[in-house]
Order: sequence, then structure tokens, then C-alpha cells
Amino acid sequence: MHEDIEVDVAVAGAGAAGIMAALRASENPDLVVAVLEKSLTEGCNAGISSGSLAAGGTRFQAAAGIEDSAERHTEDILANSGDERHRDLVAALCGVAADYVHWIADDLGYPMDVGTDMARKGMSVPRLHADPGRLGGAPLMTHLRRTLTDRANVVLLDEAPVTGLRVEDGTVVGVTGRQGNHDLVVSAGTTVLATDGFAGNRELMREFCAALGEPFHGGVSTATGDSVGWLRPLGVELRNMGACLRHGQVTLRGTRVNPALPWLGAVLLNVHGERFTDEQAHGYSGLAGVVQAQPRERAVMVWDAEAQETAQHSEMMRESADAGALQVASDLDSLAVALGFDRVALATSLAPRAGRRALTGPYHYAWLTHGVLTTQGGAAIDTSGRLLRVDGTYVPGLRAAGGVAVGLAGADSAGYSSGSGLLSAFGMGWIVGNGIAATS
Ligand SMILES: Cc1cc2nc3c(=O)[nH]c(=O)nc-3n(C[C@H](O)[C@H](O)[C@H](O)COP(=O)(O)OP(=O)(O)OC[C@H]3O[C@@H](n4cnc5c(N)ncnc54)[C@H](O)[C@@H]3O)c2cc1C
Repeated sequence: MHEDIEVDVAVAGAGAAGIMAALRASENPDLVVAVLEKSLTEGCNAGISSGSLAAGGTRFQAAAGIEDSAERHTEDILANSGDERHRDLVAALCGVAADYVHWIADDLGYPMDVGTDMARKGMSVPRLHADPGRLGGAPLMTHLRRTLTDRANVVLLDEAPVTGLRVEDGTVVGVTGRQGNHDLVVSAGTTVLATDGFAGNRELMREFCAALGEPFHGGVSTATGDSVGWLRPLGVELRNMGACLRHGQVTLRGTRVNPALPWLGAVLLNVHGERFTDEQAHGYSGLAGVVQAQPRERAVMVWDAEAQETAQHSEMMRESADAGALQVASDLDSLAVALGFDRVALATSLAPRAGRRALTGPYHYAWLTHGVLTTQGGAAIDTSGRLLRVDGTYVPGLRAAGGVAVGLAGADSAGYSSGSGLLSAFGMGWIVGNGIAATS
């Protein structure tokens, strides 16, 4: 069977970028917005994320006495990525981050707080925002989706994968999709691509990210990079395709430990008990490559009760504990036995670096490896989400936001700044949605 649907805006993907774009576009009551989602059961990466929103210059920061701004946020991201080519894009996204954090908190009523306990590499001041309970991205995405469901001018088509773009005379005029036994033919004035990246697609990962080996994939399986196949024939430029949001603190049960642990004194040792890096020298994405270079691509992280006291307040630590990935040894002797290391060598490896505190027993530890959460390469876009072709022209009728588009890590995964995944998604969803609402 076949169904024709005519709307003003078609959004492909109901994750962070798609929901935000739909929420903002549908603020204009004269517009009808359709959102097609591949799989509610599997869900989106935003739904399994930590839900940490990077934003500079918020009222939450001001209340905590933190001086920050969109400009400072921009400079921090560019210092990490070295990707000056995308300065305008980074500045545009950082420029709206405080606005949507305030909107989510004040207009949509989702509790928000600045994480003064969420230290990250390259973040010159605390600027990750999350709910006070540190519950992760699931409740946030549920809240946003519920708000969208209540809008009379929004049609949610679930379990309805988009199968392609409809193109007439070089202009995108909607999408094709499939829902149950129905072929969907959706006509739209503007189409928004928000189907995320390709970390769940082995072929594309081998094509673009072969240097990462065969890493654990810690994202949702729906991230199959469907847009790559749609955008290539349109001549859209793909940028920074080798960069990913990697993670060097993935437990052997597939959960993650709190990225703040290195700043709380945690130490990393390889399978021979050797301390192989300065733990604070890398963000968790950059750390992945360092762990990958270790024997058996493994390392053990050791921390103490003082660090645990702070680190435990995160959904990552709760999930790791539930998965049985976190262990405790009462003293150095039992830690050496549990890890299979020589006691004297272990004591040497755990000795504090200059300016750092010494760990004391009981010791907490977790065996770790590296993984990929999402890809960061994608379609070239301008500051309003228009897609750029290799020949320098734009694709009419089409916008992209989130992981479909080039991210903020630059050419290398080590350039990823914490909070940039949702910044790309919510930020460009906000810009694209506002643009559609204003001009239609
Ligand atoms: C474990 C984990 C933790 C993370 N933590 C953070 C964090 O704390 N802060 C941060 O900034 N970033 C974080 N990220 C990254 C962040 O989640 C992503 O960058 C962000 O979700 C990307 O947004 P998106 O809207 O592009 O994609 P998603 O949120 O993944 O949404 C894409 C949606 O498109 C759907 N879709 C895919 N293909 C199709 C199709 N053909 N048709 C229709 N629908 C389709 C998918 O099912 C999905 O629902 C994390 C990622 C992971 C995996």
C-alpha cells in the first residue's frame, strides 16, 4: 500500500536534532510538521547519552559564580579541535546554546543545573548542564518528545524509516519512507535530515574510520549513516569523516566510568601494571587512542573512596555498578592480588605525580577498553544548516542538523570537546527550526 502525505516540514529522525527542529518549527501554528522515526524501540543516541549540555553564559553558571560566554566556549572548542575552517559554525552553535538550555529549563520545565562536579579536558570553566539527579539523556528526551506529542500541528510517524530523499530538478521536495506495509511519499517545503552518523554501519566505519580498528560500539544500532547514501549522489561535501566521539573509559561490560575520574585522582595502568599516560592529558575521546595502543587494548583504572564519593553521582557509574563492572579492594595487597600485579611495582605505579594527591585504600577499580559512541564526520553545512555541495552550491529544500552534519572535533577524534555532540544536535536543531518558523 502507498500513502501520500503533504506537510510544510518533513523531519527525518526523532533524536536530539530532529525533535528540537520540530519543536521550534512547530512554534509557528501555521506550519504542519511531520517527524519520521526509524525505531522507537531502539531509540536515539541522545536517549542513551549522559544528557550533558555544553553551554557558555547561562544563568545557572552565573548563579554558581562562573564567568563564561559563548565566545569563551567557542575558543575552548577550537583550541581542542584546531579546526579553524569551522569557526563560524562553532560560534553559531555556541551562540545559541545558552538560549536553548534556558528554554528547556524555563519554558519546558525540565530541571537543569550546571555540573561543577563535571571537570573535562579543555573546558576552561564548568559548562556542562544536566538535571540535578544526573539521570542521563533518557528523561530529557522523553520530556522533549512529550512536549512535541502535545502539539496539534505535529504528526509523529514512528517505526517509519526514511528510505530516501525526493528530488525534483535538483530541489529536495520531501522524503520516501516505509511504515508497516505502507510506502510513504512525503511532500514538504523543507526537509530536515536528523538521522545521525554512521557508527553502527561497519562498512562505512571501515571506509572512513579504519584506523580505529574494530572498537566496541557504544551507540544505538539505528545510527547506520543512511544519509551518506542519499547525500553522495547530490554531490554534498563530506568533511572530517575519520573523526568520532570515542571513549577511552568503556568498561568490559560496555558501560562507561565517569569521565571526571582522572581529575579526581584516578590512575590508569596497562595489563603489565605500568602507568602509561598522564590521565589528565586527554579528553575521553582522545584517551581512546591511547588505550587502543596498549597491550590487548586494555587498561585498568584505579581510584579511591574520596574520588568515588564525587564520581558515583552519575548515570554512568550507576550503570557500571549494576553491570558488575566496578570492583573494590580493601588495601594495596588485595588490589595487587586482584589485578595480578607485583605489589611493589603497583605501589610505584600508583605513586602520585607532582601536584596530585596520593590514593589511599580501599581502592576502586575497573578494567577498561576503548569504544566509539558516535561519528563526528558528516555533511558540510553552513551556519543555518544548509548543505553545501562540492561545487560550492547549496541543495535547495534541505537542511541538516546533528550527527548527519560535520561535527566539532575537527579531523581527529582527539579534538572532540565534551558536550559537542548534543551542541551540534540541539544547537543546529534550534537554528534550523527557528529559521523555518520565521520564514514560512
Ligand atoms: C553513550 C553516549 C553518551 C553520550 N553522551 C553525550 C553527552 O553527555 N553530551 C553530548 O553532547 N553528547 C553525548 N553523546 C553524543 C550525542 O548523543 C549525539 O551526538 C547526539 O545524540 C546526536 O544527535 P542526533 O539528533 O544527530 O542523533 P540521535 O540523537 O541519535 O537521533 C537520530 C535519530 O534518527 C533516527 N534514524 C536513523 N536513521 C533513520 C532513518 N533512515 N529514518 C528515520 N529515522 C532514522 C534514529 O533512530 C534516531 O532516533 C553521547 C553519545 C552516546 C552514544
